[in-house]
Amino acid sequence: METCTCHIPVDTGFEVPPKASRMLSPENTLVNIRGVQVGGPEIIVMAGPCAIENSEQIAETAIAVKSAGAKILRGGAFKPRSSPYKFQGLGEEGLQMLSYISRKNGIPFVTEVMDTRQVELLSGYADMLQVGSRNMQNFPLLKEVGMCRKPVLLKRGMMSTIEEFLLAAEYILVQGNDQVILCERGIRTFETATRNTLDLNAVPMLKQLTHLPVVVDPSHGTGVKSIIPAMAKAAIAAGADGLIMEVHYKPEEALCDGQQSLNPHEFNEMMVDLRKVAAAVDRFIV
Ligand code: PEP
Ligand code: MN
Repeated sequence: METCTCHIPVDTGFEVPPKASRMLSPENTLVNIRGVQVGGPEIIVMAGPCAIENSEQIAETAIAVKSAGAKILRGGAFKPRSSPYKFQGLGEEGLQMLSYISRKNGIPFVTEVMDTRQVELLSGYADMLQVGSRNMQNFPLLKEVGMCRKPVLLKRGMMSTIEEFLLAAEYILVQGNDQVILCERGIRTFETATRNTLDLNAVPMLKQLTHLPVVVDPSHGTGVKSIIPAMAKAAIAAGADGLIMEVHYKPEEALCDGQQSLNPHEFNEMMVDLRKVAAAVDRFIV
């Protein structure tokens, strides 16, 4: 089945910035995260807790997600919480835990960087740096991660257009870092039943406009655990190159985002279904 519409020119009413543009570089960019390639035929699933809480939590969750088929471990050590009174993450201690567990289990990891002053520290540990939704237009931060030589997972701003998203990626690319993955994570709309509205239009649209890999975060995109597997399947069907999602070994005890975290059993069940959807669109999940 031919499902790729990537090379069809599309009129968006704006100009795609040159380094991100598929018109100027038609070949898919492959992003290499310590040997794991995103942007090729394999759908890469990244999973782990919202925040690293303690060594048992990250160890148990890492083993569970890896055995279910996740290729990248996620976990925040510096958390961009809406409230200053909520758990802010373990900081460097969390990074050390995550890095130790990642190496011990042979699974690369991604973690969020919130501030230009953290880029050097985080680059010393992480296999990929995440720039979160709230920082998508933090231009000094984009320049700084553009200058470092680590892959970057750039999350779409919750109130950003696709044009602004591509321009944010361009800030990283012009600094010489071509290892950029775009992540659709939901946008704010009038809808209140879900935390955000997962804009799956963005997936085929971005795939047509840019050569950069596109992944989807159905956890933040919905905020509702029971609909995450359906949206994860839909993301793959829409052409996403990967998924990033929150999994916690005990979601009811999570210090952050437990309501949108799958437990290991639920994650494993979802992965079984995702393999079928991947096969239906000529992709695969190992
Ligand atoms: C996260 O991935 O933990 C996160 C805070 O995501 P976002 O920036 O998309 O809200
Ligand atoms: Mn979260």
